[in-house]
Amino acid sequence: MVIVTLFVQTRFMKIIRRIFDLRGTPILAAVFVVLFIAEGKRQLRKRKQPRIKRAIINSLVSIPGFSLMRLLVLPVMVKLAAKNQQLQWGLGYQYKSNTIIKGAVTFLLLDYTNYVWHVLNHKLPFLWRFHLVHHCDPDLDVTTALRFHFGEMIGSVFYRGAFVFLSGATPLNVVLYEILFEAATQFHHSNWKLPYKVEKALNKIIVTPRMHGIHHSINRQETDSNYSVVFSFWDRLHNTVRLNINQDKIVTGVASYNNFDEMTVTYLLKLPFTKIRHQEINKERPADASLADKNCLAL
Ligand SMILES: [Zn+2]
Repeated sequence: MVIVTLFVQTRFMKIIRRIFDLRGTPILAAVFVVLFIAEGKRQLRKRKQPRIKRAIINSLVSIPGFSLMRLLVLPVMVKLAAKNQQLQWGLGYQYKSNTIIKGAVTFLLLDYTNYVWHVLNHKLPFLWRFHLVHHCDPDLDVTTALRFHFGEMIGSVFYRGAFVFLSGATPLNVVLYEILFEAATQFHHSNWKLPYKVEKALNKIIVTPRMHGIHHSINRQETDSNYSVVFSFWDRLHNTVRLNINQDKIVTGVASYNNFDEMTVTYLLKLPFTKIRHQEINKERPADASLADKNCLAL
């Protein structure tokens, strides 16, 4: 029994090292660089802050969160998946099919649970304290994809771990989904103005920058939409999709946190533990779908 446990532990650590550290991390770093260059050349929304200042603040805020993701969230999820493999217990072990189909089903399930997790981060005041750090970014670009408070990571260990276990994801499924999840997060936060037709086609399947830009609007009605992470159809399924907003009219951030000068790294790390300012529910603005404007996805 001890030998089996040791074998599983060694194997799961090896998968993280071999797939995530040696392959996934360089790919994610390259995706980040490509998006950073692309959004510099073809900007989607006007910026309020210099890019370098934003990159420094968001990178520093991300250090505790990213360390926790790599040293806690990912190993816990992979270990739970390995345990499940040993017990043959989760959903993936309850039906017969080939590895590819099972992998695809698991990807969809994990992505759906992340849609729900994102909704909960907005609806539950305790979780919003932490998610607010990500949303109060005055601009939205690929560096915003780094800006997650470490408290949000701690909360996600329990939630994401539980669904990895229930879904019966294999350790490889977990690591591959994590790489895709992080690449998708970088992509949809980027300020890259993709050719309109390309983005419209992509958006039928995945979350794109114009779609996620609406989620980062200071207008509460718009923030309460577009929660999907990788696949965009979860929002369509739950009627939380909103595409008819022109990107030129979006003001990104959180209305009650609009003093950029106060948002230092220390301030942002302490923010969840302070009194949270009320977020007003604004009036819904009229849809811009009638405008012949390429910055509005609903056209
Ligand atoms: Zn959000």
